[in-house]
Amino acid sequence: MNSERGRVAAEQLLPPVFLARLGLILPPEVYQSTLASFAEPGRCTFRVNTLKTTIADCVSELRLLGLELQPWDFIGEGFSVSAQQRQTLVYTAAHERGDIYIQNYSSMVPPRILKVEPGQEVLDLAAAPGGKTLHLAAIMGDKGRLAAVELVKQRFHRLRRNVERSGASIVHLYCKDGGAVGRQVPGRFDRVLLDAPCSSESRFALAQPKSWSYWSEKKIVQMQRKQKQLLYSAVLASKPGGLIAYSTCSFAPEENELVVAHVLKKFAGQLSLEEIDLPLPNTMAGLAQWRGREINPALQRAVRILPTATMSGFFVCLLRKHQESVGFSRS
Ligand code: SAM
Repeated sequence: MNSERGRVAAEQLLPPVFLARLGLILPPEVYQSTLASFAEPGRCTFRVNTLKTTIADCVSELRLLGLELQPWDFIGEGFSVSAQQRQTLVYTAAHERGDIYIQNYSSMVPPRILKVEPGQEVLDLAAAPGGKTLHLAAIMGDKGRLAAVELVKQRFHRLRRNVERSGASIVHLYCKDGGAVGRQVPGRFDRVLLDAPCSSESRFALAQPKSWSYWSEKKIVQMQRKQKQLLYSAVLASKPGGLIAYSTCSFAPEENELVVAHVLKKFAGQLSLEEIDLPLPNTMAGLAQWRGREINPALQRAVRILPTATMSGFFVCLLRKHQESVGFSRS
């Protein structure tokens, strides 16, 4: 489908309230290209699992099979193939062995910006199916300790299977509510990743009407409640001086800037937003206002990744906790 036809199809098929909101969130030219992106399958992107193979060995094995790999300049272990070659990639021995992990380039950003190091104690508070957990383990060189928490049993089992074939030994799995972790182990982790459950707006695909059939503004409010609890827990679980990455694949300000602004207020003076070094052309700063209400200007240090053929829409920010957090009210 060409991009003009894709845009028109998106306008016909997607919920009018969603479209109206998107028009308020994105600049006009980005709004048009984002609509077209809902119609495109995009390229198939993946990460080489450096715990099991080297980038050079993996690339030459895949190229021998006729796969036309394009490297990603931003992250050395990131590659893509055309949408037509996706099935071939899925059925390779490299994929079967866990030498590669198919995930969108946007999903590779939060583990990268979190600045994890070998030997650290790291928490992934909403982990299944585990793409970011395994990326963190690889960056840590499988040294240190990585706690991965997932609430939903079925998804937890999928997470376990992915960890088992990844070659990572530092991952400890917990099937529980991430919202309780901060109170249970306050101040414990050097780094915390919260890739929050969300309304998944950027994953809408016109070929899959189910991808948006549950969407509503009410759903956004429900997700926001969860996200606030989880981010609060993430901050409690972080050591003073620690870093917390928060991300979603939603465009909704209620799930992004407003969640972070809420938690910044709760931890006033003890939490700040860090600048993110993300030299990508397809980004914009966090919103300064939403529906006429100003947002804490610190949120302009957050980054919105705009959709391309290899990156889906994403929100990401990095928080630093400054002192021990005690005695805060929870609401
Ligand atoms: N980070 C994952 C990855 O890269 O593979 C994707 C995470 S997905 C966006 C959010 C996950 O959070 C879902 O698997 C969902 O089941 C889980 N979740 C929802 N509520 C949760 C909670 N209260 N505690 C822990 N996990 C939760």
